[in-house]
Amino acid sequence: MDIHEYQAKELFARQGIPVPPGEVVTSPEDAERVATRFGTAVMVKAQVHTGGRGKAGGVKFAKDASEARSHAENILGMTIKDLTVERVLITPAEDIESEAYVGIVVDRASKRPVFMVSAEGGVDIEEVADTNPEAIRKLEVDPRYGLLPHQAYLMAADLYEDAKQQRSAARIMRQLYDAFMGAGASLAEINPLITTPDGAVKAIDAKVTIDDNELFRRPEVEEMRDVSSEEPSEVTAREAGLTFIKLDGNVGCCVNGAGLAMATMDLVKYYGGEPANFLDIGGSSNPEKVVNALRIITSDPSVKVILFNIFGGITRCDDVANGIVTATEQIDIEVPIVIRLTGTNETEGVRILEGAGFSAMTDMDAAVEKAVNLATGTDK
Ligand code: GDP
Ligand code: MG
Repeated sequence: MDIHEYQAKELFARQGIPVPPGEVVTSPEDAERVATRFGTAVMVKAQVHTGGRGKAGGVKFAKDASEARSHAENILGMTIKDLTVERVLITPAEDIESEAYVGIVVDRASKRPVFMVSAEGGVDIEEVADTNPEAIRKLEVDPRYGLLPHQAYLMAADLYEDAKQQRSAARIMRQLYDAFMGAGASLAEINPLITTPDGAVKAIDAKVTIDDNELFRRPEVEEMRDVSSEEPSEVTAREAGLTFIKLDGNVGCCVNGAGLAMATMDLVKYYGGEPANFLDIGGSSNPEKVVNALRIITSDPSVKVILFNIFGGITRCDDVANGIVTATEQIDIEVPIVIRLTGTNETEGVRILEGAGFSAMTDMDAAVEKAVNLATGTDK
């Protein structure tokens, strides 16, 4: 789950990381009012779940309140990487002397949180990573001990020469680690971590991604979810208890089990097709889940065919068959459906489907190939 910059800054501030104050608004009038209250030059910052806002024109300096109003007018409603800006953060503008990068991600290879820091922070950090990777120091953290003081100092010494700034940066890194662990994050990033002419070190941008599997025990973090910023089909799927990820292809996939769903997507690719989604209806399917799954898949206009691939273990083929029949009674489905069913209660499943005018296959390759051919218009 992604959260907005202003929410990530709240998490950081709670750990003591210095962040400028700010207020989120949804109208130009409020932007002007808040800027007037700050009484200084402000930044008007688009709140969307993506980086690169600055380069897209979503982060603007306003010398006074009326300029804040006009920037807010332009930024509210603009789209950045397909996301519509519905809120802006108004925050006092800082005088920047240097921009550094400090981030933590969960690293799959080492199975640990890994710090990444660079003195060359700012909007071009991706370019630095590509062209000058030595400028980024990485440090694995052993979660049993957390980030130890000397490790934080070593990294801070990469960023600053001034001893006071090194101390501030080391403290901020330890606070960032606490914020990261406390929120169940998979990523926490400060870019840029700035120094100001008076020597202070501050976080003026914040990005945090929460591991979805941590949310059940952190209701206060779950409350930060902004449904309006998420892919609508993924929201519906989550509410229906389905694991769903929207993709760009046209073969809608409805599968039980994450492993089989991955294998199905591989096979779709193998036969020259492109999956429209990853969808796992779960282990014990009830017909209701199938109905919800079909609703979500068919609401995607690019879907040209729906492929069911069910391996009945705990999932019963007759349940899935009933779900398909119920769904097609409730929803107007205009695309062909290819069904592969095998395993528990297969015979009943096939009987139910055939009774409703469908046919079912048992061979996975044959079913996937047929679905791809239907999607690409090469079905004989
Ligand atoms: P991002 O583009 O989505 O990463 O958004 P950021 O919040 O990082 O802003 C992008 C860039 O705008 C920063 O790297 C800064 O150079 C600049 N910026 C952001 N806030 C301020 C500010 O308060 N003062 C000044 N002078 N520049 C800022
Ligand atoms: Mg940034």
